[in-house]
Amino acid sequence: FNYSLARFLTSAPTLARCPEDSGVEVAFAGRSNAGKSSAINTITQQKALARTSKTPGRTQLINVFSLGEDSERRLVDLPGYGYAKVPEKVKLEWQRHLAEYLQKRASLKGLVLVMDVRHPLTEFDLALLDVADERDLPVHILLTKADKLKQGAAKNALQQVRSRLREWEDLVSVQLFSALKRQGVDEAHRRLDGWLAH
Ligand code: GDP
Repeated sequence: FNYSLARFLTSAPTLARCPEDSGVEVAFAGRSNAGKSSAINTITQQKALARTSKTPGRTQLINVFSLGEDSERRLVDLPGYGYAKVPEKVKLEWQRHLAEYLQKRASLKGLVLVMDVRHPLTEFDLALLDVADERDLPVHILLTKADKLKQGAAKNALQQVRSRLREWEDLVSVQLFSALKRQGVDEAHRRLDGWLAH
């Protein structure tokens, strides 16, 4: 699959305003500042497809990118969650939207969950894994910013996450990733290829 063909399609404030629920979609979710935008840009080999920001928590929209002309294959950038400065009520609202999207979106064939390798498996990450599990939605975890750890420490983090997710090993895969070093891009492409080939 040629991910560099990804183009911005639309932004939607809610699930109801997303493009028609047909074709195949792969969504990206993660805690604010985990490195989701950087991962999307690296995977699509584009500098600024998804906005990266030093001010986390500002992307509240669902951003949709199409892969190729017909918009039947899409990448979906879901709002980051957990940003401390967002009021609790707004946080809960986003979380509800996210869960609803994951539960109801028929074209959704896989979820990429982006986590900072130094802070993996937050409470809400685990909640999303539960939601995905309920509908047998496969999940691929990117442990990103792997360049921030020494190689041995990064491998340990990977092993720890794998062992904590053993009960979900049929649905969930995990890898190290670094947008800065372009580490793990081929592995991520292979997993996405499988989902988008549906
Ligand atoms: P998002 O809020 O999850 O979309 O996170 P961003 O992609 O905007 O990244 C948040 C911050 O982490 C930015 O300052 C990025 O430059 C930095 N960052 C993202 N990915 C990496 C990475 O792989 N390595 C390093 N060292 N920094 C990264």
